[in-house]
Amino acid sequence: MNKCTFCRIIAGELPGRIVYQDRETTAFRDINPVAPTHILIVPNKHIDSINKISSRDERLVGHLFTVAGELAAQEGVAETGYRLIINTGRDANQTIFHLHLHLIGGQPVRYPMG
Ligand code: AMP
Ligand code: ZN
Repeated sequence: MNKCTFCRIIAGELPGRIVYQDRETTAFRDINPVAPTHILIVPNKHIDSINKISSRDERLVGHLFTVAGELAAQEGVAETGYRLIINTGRDANQTIFHLHLHLIGGQPVRYPMG
């Protein structure tokens, strides 16, 4: 099976502005940022989307949020605030089918959200 774009960034086969990596997760800057801070936090293991997570992934999914909180602090947006977004499927405009958490901050959010 061909590796997806994010699997290739995680493996170092495609360039990425990686800001954090450990055994289970990788975080890198979005190539098309919508705010001063726009980081994608992804599991190193390929999971298509939230639709494909199982109870075995609970620790891993929880870890993505721990990393998100640490990166928010590192980026200086923990106090000013930020959004965490997970798009799933067509109606949410998911374009990369490797689970990722968007960490978006550094400016007030625009509404409406839906
Ligand atoms: P989503 O719509 O939730 O699937 O978001 C996919 C995100 O991945 C978009 O915000 C893209 O700008 C971003 N993206 C696509 N390709 C790359 C890449 N090679 N490096 C970093 N971010 C990317
Ligand atoms: Zn992948």
